[in-house]
Amino acid sequence: MKYNSKTIMTGKSLTAGIGALALSLVVGIAPASAGGKSVTWDDLLNDHKTNDDILSYGAGLKAQRYSTLDQINTSNVGKMKPKWSFSFGDEKQRGQEAQALVHDGVIYMTASYSRMFAIDAKTGKKLWQYSARLPKDIRPCCDVVNRGAAIYGDLVYMGLLDASVVALNKNTGKVVWKKKFGDHAAGYTMTGAPFIIKDQKTGKIMLIHGSSGDEFGVIGRLYARDPNTGEELWMRPFVEGHMGTVAGKKSTPTGDPKAPSWPPGNYKDTGKKESWSHGGGAPWQTATFDIETNTIVIGTGNPAPWNTWKRTKDGDDPRNWESLYTSGQAYVDPSTGEMVGFFQHTPNDAWDFSGNNEIVLFEYKDPKTGKLRKAGAHADRNGFLFVTDREKLTKRDDKINKPTSLIAAHPFVPGITWAKGFDLKTGKPIEVEGQRPPKPEAGKKKGKMIQVTPNFLGGKNWNPMSYNPETGLFYIGANHWSEDYWTENITYKKGAAYLGQGFRIKRQFDTHVGALTAIEPLSGKIVWTAKEKLPLWSGTLTTKGGLVFTGTSDGYVKAFDAKNGKELWKFQTGSGVVSIPVTWEMDGKQYIGMGSGYGGAVPLWGGDIAELTKPVSQGGSFWVFEIPKEVASK
Ligand code: CA
Ligand code: CA
Repeated sequence: MKYNSKTIMTGKSLTAGIGALALSLVVGIAPASAGGKSVTWDDLLNDHKTNDDILSYGAGLKAQRYSTLDQINTSNVGKMKPKWSFSFGDEKQRGQEAQALVHDGVIYMTASYSRMFAIDAKTGKKLWQYSARLPKDIRPCCDVVNRGAAIYGDLVYMGLLDASVVALNKNTGKVVWKKKFGDHAAGYTMTGAPFIIKDQKTGKIMLIHGSSGDEFGVIGRLYARDPNTGEELWMRPFVEGHMGTVAGKKSTPTGDPKAPSWPPGNYKDTGKKESWSHGGGAPWQTATFDIETNTIVIGTGNPAPWNTWKRTKDGDDPRNWESLYTSGQAYVDPSTGEMVGFFQHTPNDAWDFSGNNEIVLFEYKDPKTGKLRKAGAHADRNGFLFVTDREKLTKRDDKINKPTSLIAAHPFVPGITWAKGFDLKTGKPIEVEGQRPPKPEAGKKKGKMIQVTPNFLGGKNWNPMSYNPETGLFYIGANHWSEDYWTENITYKKGAAYLGQGFRIKRQFDTHVGALTAIEPLSGKIVWTAKEKLPLWSGTLTTKGGLVFTGTSDGYVKAFDAKNGKELWKFQTGSGVVSIPVTWEMDGKQYIGMGSGYGGAVPLWGGDIAELTKPVSQGGSFWVFEIPKEVASK
């Protein structure tokens, strides 16, 4: 990599670094067949209940990442050993951020550089491999990662770094269809796992996926496709005033066509048209599906550029502007592709907090009424855990003096500087003065440097949290860190980073960066934290066995007691772990699986923290753990 720890990341160095990441790969398909049953909608619907498979990102429609398996539990997890390990091979390694799927004895694992592997779950033997042929000029902002696959019928699906989505025959790895949805040279790409839903009105099965690329000034879009053919059913952009499509034809603009949340009330009248035209909002993480309200719930990315002044009327207070529909959570009707609600985590985001992190659906008993409430939880990069009401969606015109869907907003990291909290009545942050990096003074290229906590990599980044209904706690792979932040002048140029901001990621504490955090969603009480020297960049899994599993940047897969955070087991995989653990049952026995291979945004963008991660070796492998019979009986 061209990056070194002393590099202060700016737009210029970002583009140079990405060039070094791009490379071509040869498509390789092994002749072996994986075989196996077709996956039905009922299989997907019941995914969270069935222990012999993992068929969706999040291990169920609600994405709770909770398993009712308890064979491996607090009393015996210390005896866990590896069963087998599988190497992804190839010269290029980088970050392995994926969650595996497991179906009918086969593990489907995606890997860096847009690869997928089908592996025999019993033996670790490779059944087939798919490696996308990638153009040289792809522009992933934050490493060549992929976060996982979707499965339906006889097909498995994944996004590719060249802004396309591919469907492979799950038994052979052969390409069945491939659809390109964006110009990769302009910065469109795809790293998130696609997601299968069933529209409850029409009965249509749909493949839902988003685009990535906010750091290059793309318009973020959410797509619905026919899973059998890849045909586009609808597309919804997340910059106000941009036009959606149904079956490839213009449908409706998103929100108000005049885009009043982009200055000065009508983007067409202003020199600020540039930022509106490249406004970000990319829904690059995986959606959840609220089947009870028939709604797709998805986080939207930061507005582009990062520089808040490019999206604020000259002379006005940036807090008067919103840059809708960026940095929030969107609710989309699958039948029409229309946005039916929105809650903004960071209005007119000046920090690249983005709203992309997953929204986990859960229920809780209202202490006042005793009724079961349907809620969503989202731990944002801005440091707050939001609990929202799924049945009372926030509409654009609800913004002031009307009820919002916000139930609670709790800090889950210490020392947040940009906001004191949230006003639950308006759903707006109580911002701290002077925390938006100031505009460069006349004649200067850079603005005055300020310090912000958390930094733009966030109190929590993409790595998904889990929810255990038995403990009532969310388990968040959080980070405690800070940054120096300043504005820079910026003009849009196709394919170049569109930030208008410079930064240096710094330590917040001498002792640690990572903090596995167990939090009670309604009170906001942090029940325990387990600190890690290096940043946490892995998802979490929680089980009825009273455990929380995660991985660490210094190479361990770890198990913790879900009640008190005591570390009960760890295993060194030889490279940093930045993926998502899964568990399943095979022949009556419980297994844990997780990818290993260090990379992602931290070593590329992490300033002082990238320095900390320098000793971590690269890799690319998948590990399966068990309690061996001879050990279990002792
Ligand atoms: Ca299942
Ligand atoms: Ca971003």
